[in-house]
Amino acid sequence: MSAHVLTLNAGSSSLKFGLFAAREDVLVVATGLLERIGESPRLKAEGANGMVFERHLSPEAAADHASALQTVLGLLKSEFPDDDISAVGHRVVHGGPNYSHPVAITRNLLTELERFEPFAPLHQPHNLAGVRSALQAFPDAVQVACFDTAFHRQHPFVNDVFALPREYYDRGVRRYGFHGLSYEYVSGELSRIAPHLHSGRVVIAHLGNGASMCGLLDGLPMGTRCGQLDPGVLLYLMDQEGMDAAAISDLLYKRSGLLGLSGISNDMRTLEAATTSEAEDAIAYFVFRIRRELGALAAVLGGLDALVFCGGIGENSHLIRERVCEGMGWIGIELDRIHNEENATVISTDLSRARVMVIPTDEEVVIARAALDLMVGVERRAAE
Ligand code: ADP
Repeated sequence: MSAHVLTLNAGSSSLKFGLFAAREDVLVVATGLLERIGESPRLKAEGANGMVFERHLSPEAAADHASALQTVLGLLKSEFPDDDISAVGHRVVHGGPNYSHPVAITRNLLTELERFEPFAPLHQPHNLAGVRSALQAFPDAVQVACFDTAFHRQHPFVNDVFALPREYYDRGVRRYGFHGLSYEYVSGELSRIAPHLHSGRVVIAHLGNGASMCGLLDGLPMGTRCGQLDPGVLLYLMDQEGMDAAAISDLLYKRSGLLGLSGISNDMRTLEAATTSEAEDAIAYFVFRIRRELGALAAVLGGLDALVFCGGIGENSHLIRERVCEGMGWIGIELDRIHNEENATVISTDLSRARVMVIPTDEEVVIARAALDLMVGVERRAAE
């Protein structure tokens, strides 16, 4: 048997997983996704050994997160019978104000993390359901929570606060910042590929189903979420439309963003292929907000040395990147059209003052490394 790390990223109806061999660093063995938990589940997985698996499952095979995990483990066991899982790393979106690093999971920690569910209702309850299932399945493994908020915990007070009475800040109403696992991976890659830029004025734009830009974190519209909103709109919805908290949260989290504006889809590929003016409006608003945040971030940083795109849209959509960068010569950006269309690592011209890059993100590797570190620490202490 050889030591392995399992990574789990549990969403509302999906479970993303990765199996990694634990060596000096982590080596990917397999990655996959079980989607549509509780409906008509589908399991996709790919192995570094060439294994490709794609199958619709019976509803009972993934009726909830616990049975979904058992189904995933069944597949991993049959494909990789000698791989012993010694550590499990979990993506947990919200770590609250105190955690700036991954931490070992205990019952007390779980109770503490449940308190942050209202701050991340789309993710936190599901992340924690994944944790509970894994604690049952691997009672003896080291289990570690990796927080999307952790990367941002060192940011200054002005980035952390809303201009509300201070008591709300003390009660946890803060601008936490998300996508930290992605930013950690991409900034690590940036320091490897372009060390001179890493210490410079860098903006990273994570544009996926969820979208944010590092530094200013709540401005962008996303797949189904609205991003920045005037608080007056909330008051109008309550007073004039008679909406309660549940109705507003359904509107803002599930029916807004690209989906709400286009009326068609939250999927950028669908919007790019569509010909309606509403789809174009949704794309135009998405691009407009990114450009605004880019300008604001450059002002905060005092200039711009590099702009890095990541996430499903950032990594794949040359159209969005081109529209974001258009007319940005004033900030030193000059895009190389061909390199951009090829999704090359560097997509700016040689003369561009600011380097523009595409760095595919890998949140699973960040989680697996954190779990490995913790596992090694536990083993070292046991040996002492
Ligand atoms: P998540 O934030 O859920 O991890 P991803 O990072 O996978 O999501 O990003 C999903 C988004 O990326 C979707 O809007 C999808 O349409 C978009 N996307 C993926 N490939 C392309 C492509 N070739 N062109 C445009 N958009 C794409």
